[in-house]
Amino acid sequence: MAECIFCRVGRGEIPAEKLFEDEFVVAFRDIHPVAPVHVLVIPKQHVTAAWEIDQSHGFMLARMFIAANDAATQTGIAESGYRLVINAGPDAGQSVDHLHLHVLGGQRLGWPPFPPAE
Ligand code: AMP
Repeated sequence: MAECIFCRVGRGEIPAEKLFEDEFVVAFRDIHPVAPVHVLVIPKQHVTAAWEIDQSHGFMLARMFIAANDAATQTGIAESGYRLVINAGPDAGQSVDHLHLHVLGGQRLGWPPFPPAE
């Protein structure tokens, strides 16, 4: 998986503005933020997308949510609120094939988060 960009972030081979890191996950600022606060949380283990998740990933997923909570606190949006998003596949716009949790906040977030289907 040497070519996977988020595996490389996880190994520290690509610079990232990290907010949280432990043995299992890294939280870092999105390079193209779509909200005043936009953080990504990735597992260090390669998981291609949400559809690959199974029972064995339980602890890793808990660490991802703990990292997201920590990032929300550090960026000052824990009280005002935030949205956690996982895009899975083409219709959701997943552009990096390594599981990642978006932490979005710092403004009122629209709902639904997409234009109505034609
Ligand atoms: P998605 O479209 O859900 O797959 O989200 C991928 C996200 O990764 C996008 O918001 C990109 O801006 C972000 N991204 C891609 N490469 C990097 C990078 N090297 N550092 C930080 N964010 C990145």
